[in-house]
Amino acid sequence: MHSAAANSELKNGTGEEMNETSHLVCPQCRSINRVPTARLTDHPNCGQCHRPLFTGHPITLTAAEFDLHVSQADIPLVVDFWAPWCGPCQMMAPAYEQAAKELEPRMRLAKVNTEDERPLATRFGIVSIPTMILFHGGREVARQPGALGPQDIVRWIRSHT
Ligand SMILES: [Zn+2]
Repeated sequence: MHSAAANSELKNGTGEEMNETSHLVCPQCRSINRVPTARLTDHPNCGQCHRPLFTGHPITLTAAEFDLHVSQADIPLVVDFWAPWCGPCQMMAPAYEQAAKELEPRMRLAKVNTEDERPLATRFGIVSIPTMILFHGGREVARQPGALGPQDIVRWIRSHT
């Protein structure tokens, strides 16, 4: 696995065009990282806690860091609102995992457990689960109620980004 290449400290290489950067929120320590967009695919680590900024898995968001990820990250954020007792949510989980592998690091995939985070579910008017909401530039861009397969998830996200 390439994540063993721990020292991707995002140095500014000499003579390279590094103008375009993306702001990313570390899923572990919540630090805001600035990563040259061209190096997103180089398995960047967090400058603060040195853990990978992307793991190939959806991250779990709580109310504590939700707004940080929505407002501070430049890349699109997809959130799957789900609950442990919901059969269709369980069915969609592996598809969502697969979509994360395919779409990272160009976007961030996250999950919100609506049982644990009822205020978030209320705030976004989640009336059925699963519901996916796509955020970009600090605001909701699209939402999709109902379970989808991996290819449909990817297609839906790409059609809005
Ligand atoms: Zn970190």
